[in-house]
Amino acid sequence: MIFRQLFEPETSTYSYLLGCERTRKAMIIDPVASEVEQYVQLLETLKLELYYTLETHVHADHITGSGQLRERLGSKSVVHRDAGALCADLLVTDGVTLQLGDLEFEVRHTPGHTNGCVSYVMEDRVFTGDALLINGCGRSDFQQGNAGQLYDSIHHQLFTLPPDTLVYPGHDYQGNTVSTIKQEMAKNPRLGAGRTRDEFIAIMQELKLAYPKQIDQALPANQACGRVEGTSRHG
Ligand code: FE
Repeated sequence: MIFRQLFEPETSTYSYLLGCERTRKAMIIDPVASEVEQYVQLLETLKLELYYTLETHVHADHITGSGQLRERLGSKSVVHRDAGALCADLLVTDGVTLQLGDLEFEVRHTPGHTNGCVSYVMEDRVFTGDALLINGCGRSDFQQGNAGQLYDSIHHQLFTLPPDTLVYPGHDYQGNTVSTIKQEMAKNPRLGAGRTRDEFIAIMQELKLAYPKQIDQALPANQACGRVEGTSRHG
């Protein structure tokens, strides 16, 4: 498998490029609009053809590159049915398995940060979006977020994976790149180390986070796969 972890520093967003060595088919998880040119060049360098862009959820902090990539490269965008992005090519639900060359991944519905959040499980790794972060988790006070639901998602859908499963998050603000399920179960200060559901809900209620800066622009844009009239490069 060809694998690259890509970082967009302005919003500390991780995107992931995955490619099948045999068929040269590739996908990008959570592409960022401002990075599209780099993706196109990287795909070219690696001699890969982009088939899918996968969203872990509809983002409130950056604009997705899925619409631009679809126009330029003909890739298909994948998002959960409840995410409110009907512009997508493929709306998925919990338990769906997708195959791309020799790559196989399973969709797990992990709502709580938003109602349409999914994690993508592949062999030895899981892409958790903003559900489970390294030593943290996504906020649960916008986009139909719900702290109790987030706790249940993480405990039932993610902490049940094999302990050595690598955890690749949607963001990191401290420079961490990868964790494991075992590490998060042991050390995550909000969700691990025996924290109860009630304790978690109380922690989330106490966060008192600022209003998300980009949400008013990013949400409507992302529900249109990142294509907004007047702001896009392609009209
Ligand atoms: Fe998010």
